[in-house]
Amino acid sequence: MILHIDMDAFFASIEQAINPRLKGKPLIIGSRGNKMHTVVCAASYAAKALGIHSGMSSREAFSLCPQLEFVAADQAKYIWTSEQIFELLKEYDLPLNYASIDEFQLELTGYPDPLNLAKKIKEQIYANFNITASVGIAKTWLLAKLASKLNKPDGLTLIDDSNFEQILRQTSLDKLCGMGGKTGVGFIASGLKSCWDLYLNLPGFFSQSYHNSDNVDENPGKFNEMPKSISHSYTLPMAQINPQVIRAWIRLLSEMVATRLRQQKLTSATVHLWLNGPEIGSFGAQKTYQLTTNDGYEIYQRAVKTMAKSRFKNHRIRAIGVTCSSLSKGSYQPLLREEIRREGLIQALDRINNRFGEGSIHPAITDLTH
Ligand SMILES: [Mg+2]
Repeated sequence: MILHIDMDAFFASIEQAINPRLKGKPLIIGSRGNKMHTVVCAASYAAKALGIHSGMSSREAFSLCPQLEFVAADQAKYIWTSEQIFELLKEYDLPLNYASIDEFQLELTGYPDPLNLAKKIKEQIYANFNITASVGIAKTWLLAKLASKLNKPDGLTLIDDSNFEQILRQTSLDKLCGMGGKTGVGFIASGLKSCWDLYLNLPGFFSQSYHNSDNVDENPGKFNEMPKSISHSYTLPMAQINPQVIRAWIRLLSEMVATRLRQQKLTSATVHLWLNGPEIGSFGAQKTYQLTTNDGYEIYQRAVKTMAKSRFKNHRIRAIGVTCSSLSKGSYQPLLREEIRREGLIQALDRINNRFGEGSIHPAITDLTH
């Protein structure tokens, strides 16, 4: 069994937990501080109910709701919270997958009471962070992820043999993860409407096992062993064409990968960028450098360089992944003066953030235009 945890409106919920005045209100998180000239990168449930969604311009969002609350994105805070949740889940000593900044998967082979475990995890997350998660439990990761979406927010859904057919009949195909890409367009064009239609035509589709096998920690007890790669990926709520938004996500994922590299005292020579979208399908490219790095900005720049610029310009992107591999122990040796300065800065930031948590200080990654 797979237990899939999906945080509810993650960024907006974190801001609401920190500032109770924002609770229950329509709130958007802007990718930059200038509230009328930015892009919505997350929306609270109250904002979503008004038709506001991520990827929309903030101006458009304010025209739908003039009383909208606005907070500029603070990625360091979101990354920090995400990692604290990951640490909390490690305690269960089960194979654990960091699927994206707001999604986590546990593998429960032979676990006696998955529903009870899910309840406990939800309670723990709420008690620690004052935010809610929706949990899905099913035989495969694809079904577990689908289950997590069915009763949002604060949901708990189990798909087993007793309700499998009923749930698949009720669920339209576009709810299924991966249906934003070429495959989904193909299925829908060929007349398939519900998940049950897909199951009747292609039963094997639902039995796919764990994805992202790179990320699955087979031995959760042995975190000291050196991993082969460290990656983070994110599926956007809808396909995005705005290169600024796409680069902002690459930047965020690069910072997350870099933080984990530094935590494990690793440095990486190879950066791999993966993009998925309705026109381009799945596209990945990687580049290896002589000089290794564990600096988020450097990883971001390398990731962007691996792609021809035209790829970003006119194609919609639905999912993004950044992976660092060719890992070695030790922090990299900065050669240039500028790098020495950055290295010192990064260490200082990590020290402060480790001590005080909550992304007390963070680099200017909120400037998402770079
Ligand atoms: Mg989520």
